[in-house]
Amino acid sequence: MLKRLLSLLSAAVLALVLVVPLASADQQLKVFATIFPLYDFAREVGGDKVDLSMLLPPGVEAHTFEPKPQDIVRLNKADVFLYTGEFMEPWATNVLKGVTNKGLIAVDTSTGITLMNEAEHGHTHGKEGAVFEWAGVFELEAGEYVWSFAKVGGEYADLSMKMVIVTVDDASVHGIEENEGAAGGYFSGEVKEVKEGATLEPMKGAYQLAFDHSKPVSAFRVKIAQKGSYVVFTEHMPTEFEAGEHFLKNAKGENVEAKAEEPEAEHHHHGGKDPHIWLDLVLAQTMVDTIAQSFAQKDPTNSSFYQANAESYKARLKDLDARYAATLSTCQIRTIIYAGHFAFGYFAKRYKLDHVSPYKGFSPDAEPAPKSIKEIIDKIKSVGSNTIYYEELIDPKVARMIAGETGARLELLNGAHNVAKDQMTNLSYLKIMEANLLKLKDGLKCQ
Ligand SMILES: [Zn+2]
Repeated sequence: MLKRLLSLLSAAVLALVLVVPLASADQQLKVFATIFPLYDFAREVGGDKVDLSMLLPPGVEAHTFEPKPQDIVRLNKADVFLYTGEFMEPWATNVLKGVTNKGLIAVDTSTGITLMNEAEHGHTHGKEGAVFEWAGVFELEAGEYVWSFAKVGGEYADLSMKMVIVTVDDASVHGIEENEGAAGGYFSGEVKEVKEGATLEPMKGAYQLAFDHSKPVSAFRVKIAQKGSYVVFTEHMPTEFEAGEHFLKNAKGENVEAKAEEPEAEHHHHGGKDPHIWLDLVLAQTMVDTIAQSFAQKDPTNSSFYQANAESYKARLKDLDARYAATLSTCQIRTIIYAGHFAFGYFAKRYKLDHVSPYKGFSPDAEPAPKSIKEIIDKIKSVGSNTIYYEELIDPKVARMIAGETGARLELLNGAHNVAKDQMTNLSYLKIMEANLLKLKDGLKCQ
């Protein structure tokens, strides 16, 4: 009991220490916001009581931004750090570990918001019902290779596992995508059962690999008759069976790495959750509340000032949301043809719109596959659209190419991630969203 009381007491003391209020009432709150929407929300809520800066340089692409040591120095002098969340700023946790300023409060503005993953978008990329967890494409010389599965923590991750090995033309992620459909068919069709030590060869079908439970490692030989590119689909992640040794080796015992794999091993910018919450005018109101609360926590003297600003700003967001709902309920076309990375997932769900985009995932860092571009061209024709939307701050070369093929016209649908330096003062999130409404009304043929 005493122990519990003591720990409660120390938690209370800790809470007091963690939130160090400002030294004096006339001092401005020093605030850093990562991306433009957060910067603009903070500008509305904080007014002249905050000394506000954007952490990302104006105009840079937000998803591929990497902080510099200088950014830690900047945060060491700040009171509040606003970021969107771990899927928009995956680097935030590490940067915050480097910050020694105990007075800083880091605010995840996605707090209280349920993030959607890709499947919830109403538009999937052929992954729906996928029976394989992993695919990798390899460039292999003729010869024998060893694929091994190790017990991790004394157990195999599963009793057995399905695997498909097929020849492809293209040793890139496109080679994987082009064979996903066929591989899915093999996985759900008849399988060839093989025991530990068996030899596997590329074939139009799936193996069922049975592991030997008396051994710490079950190995299979992979026989490649001809030099070329091969894609391997596996029921589980190969790394689930890795206990120190790489899973694929050549005859010399050297590690063989995939040229490309899905899911991507290194660049997990978003880890499958959609970070673009700010484009939903209702979720934006939650973010504004979170920001106002953090300012009030750090600067209680001006708490009612922040609260009042938040309320009046939220009223403007609410008004625009109502106008969006009214306009978008009347559209003849209900599919947004988007040539960029699709940042409008929450937005589209809010107004029951569909969308098509050639990009996978939620970041513009991957080149779209030719197959996805063809899908878009077909979609433009089938929905009778004459407008392709493109994203801000990136040369719309994909959009131009599609426009060239279809005769559709290009319009900017601004995801507001960031703005150019000369627009920092005269542009705002609301102005961007007002312009987007006009563009959508026109392109989707609404009243
Ligand atoms: Zn984005």
